[in-house]
Amino acid sequence: MTNPLLNMLQKATKSDVAVLPPFAYIKPQHIEPAIDQILDENRVQLSSLLKQKSFNWSNFIQPLEEMADRLQRVWSPVSHMNSVVNSDELREAYNKSLPKLSNYATELGQNEKLFQAYQAIANAPSFSTLEIAQQKIINNALRDFHLSGVDLSENKKQRFKEIKQQLSKLKTQFEENILDATYAWFKHIEDQENLSGLPDFAIGMSKQAAEQKELSGWIFTLDAPSYMAVMMYADSRSLREEMYRAFVTRASDQCSDEKSKQWDNSANMQAILSLRHELAGLLNFKNYAELSLATKMAETTDDVFDFLSQLIDKSKAVAENEYQELSDFVKSKYGMDSLAAWDVMYYSEKLRQDKFAISQEELKPYFPEQRVLDGMFSVVNKIYGIHIKEIQGIETWHQAVRVFEIRDIDGKMRGQFYLDLYTREKKRGGAWMDDCQGRVMHQTGQLQYPVAYLTCNLTPPIGDEPALFTHQEVITLFHEFGHGLHHMLTQVNYLSVSGINGVAWDAVELPSQFLENWCWEKEALDLIAAHYKTNEAMPEVLFERMHAAKNFQSSMIMMRQLEFALFDFKIHSEYATSKFKTEKGLDIQAVLDEVRSQVAVITPPAFNRFQHSFSHIFAGGYAAGYYSYKWAEVLSADAFSKFEEQGIFDRQTGLEFLHSVLEQGGSQEPIELFKAFRGREPQIDALLRHSGIAA
Ligand SMILES: [Zn+2]
Repeated sequence: MTNPLLNMLQKATKSDVAVLPPFAYIKPQHIEPAIDQILDENRVQLSSLLKQKSFNWSNFIQPLEEMADRLQRVWSPVSHMNSVVNSDELREAYNKSLPKLSNYATELGQNEKLFQAYQAIANAPSFSTLEIAQQKIINNALRDFHLSGVDLSENKKQRFKEIKQQLSKLKTQFEENILDATYAWFKHIEDQENLSGLPDFAIGMSKQAAEQKELSGWIFTLDAPSYMAVMMYADSRSLREEMYRAFVTRASDQCSDEKSKQWDNSANMQAILSLRHELAGLLNFKNYAELSLATKMAETTDDVFDFLSQLIDKSKAVAENEYQELSDFVKSKYGMDSLAAWDVMYYSEKLRQDKFAISQEELKPYFPEQRVLDGMFSVVNKIYGIHIKEIQGIETWHQAVRVFEIRDIDGKMRGQFYLDLYTREKKRGGAWMDDCQGRVMHQTGQLQYPVAYLTCNLTPPIGDEPALFTHQEVITLFHEFGHGLHHMLTQVNYLSVSGINGVAWDAVELPSQFLENWCWEKEALDLIAAHYKTNEAMPEVLFERMHAAKNFQSSMIMMRQLEFALFDFKIHSEYATSKFKTEKGLDIQAVLDEVRSQVAVITPPAFNRFQHSFSHIFAGGYAAGYYSYKWAEVLSADAFSKFEEQGIFDRQTGLEFLHSVLEQGGSQEPIELFKAFRGREPQIDALLRHSGIAA
């Protein structure tokens, strides 16, 4: 039997260019056999490696890195397809593989002989002759053995393994519930009156959505482009309310119909928190937040709480003023005494137009897809000298997906990426970058290039028009591209610390948020923006208005991020000690309510269950780590401030950032990389200035 997932590995050893996964041929029935075979082979190879008399990098760690690479390259396309072209069959095969992968990972992490072999290499005199990246891999591994329970008794090891397996299953269920709940809901409208206030693009998009379901009229969904358009522009208050309720009660106990209750995440959340706490306890941490910090830049839970408090103190009054301004505006102009949750975005948009004569919609004609992409590629060409070009004829998982390659100034290949821009059914919401394969110098001397998936849920093209993006969507694209460059521009040849691998999670948002800054610079916008019909540059006056509106309600947004970060950190650090601990677990809602009483400028209605779709922390990698966005933004804002000093396209500064940060991946501590670039410790001033909180 030929299995495309396994064939891909065989082919890869013969070629020097990136061998991409054969997406068109990967079927659910290939998944389990491929995973079984790789795991079997890896286990056999591991036991023979451990029989060696002595251990060094090339006879031991290099082969282990190759094993990890093979597994990663087979699993990555599977996991990716499960996220972006989900189906029942794929889901089943994916879910069957999860416990196998989880057990394998725990097995390696708890293997005492393996641990001792790493220790022997670390203690040998030759350790100091290894490259910094190699030393970092060994030191990280020694740390991670302890975090996998290598020191535990047999009973506790077994329990650790069970918990890991259950957590992997629960996280997947959490995500599946959101996906199912999101796509089960849509609003079908046949009465044109309900469309009042909506811009043409939103009406066109909803008409197209109705046609796809073979319905007359218009369909609104809980996809970001559709939902946001209604919340910002629909004059019909009842439509906004209905969509708001549907959106914020997804996958919760508060959803309106019986059918949707099957996707309630309440029990999953309880189980996840309880198991995480138990896991931390097994490893002698007081709580899961401490375990989370064991691999991060922040050292203690107090460091994180202090950091968040500092930002809350600095932003709260400004955010309250912003909200007061909105309330006053709504009262004087519309005679309303109070705002419901589904009014806030709508009237904020009215206020933005009143104050700055600008709306997100007005900018859209200046951001057609191709221009934005070409402009983004020109921006990074100016900064780093790299060239990006589309490659045709590559098979992917969906016809809307495009593939690009990056070459450096000398024409040398640096990496490739898939770009999957538009929202669609069976595709997980949000935007993210993930690695398809990492940069590796194989034992054979062949170089494997890094390949990334860039996934967004942006507005799709409507009819024959090109896709037109809001400025916010352009920022999202830059953000993910920033992650992608971190992964693809790495020059580290060892998988475990190449690209984003091995990067402390609270530093991972540095390159992404860093690149967003160019979306606000006139010189850069001239490259990114041009009217899709006339090709005219964005008029100066429009740019000035857009820039003036940059920090519109930015402190309110900041406070919302801080609310999420504090909530996340509290439920993980105070799980056992919280006054909201009950016999049934933690009263998560009560913790959130208390956080809001301290932080929130706007208190959402009682039925709001935002936390039930907070997949960053319940299903993703941000558990007790959501603070990372703000933590890393201190670094990204401060790094960008050097470009403000030297010029945003200053090549010398660009190359310094490339060499000091992007190329280094996880080979050194992020603070060291930052200091190498900035020449000093990070300072918070640039973040406060960019956010409009300090002058
Ligand atoms: Zn990010």
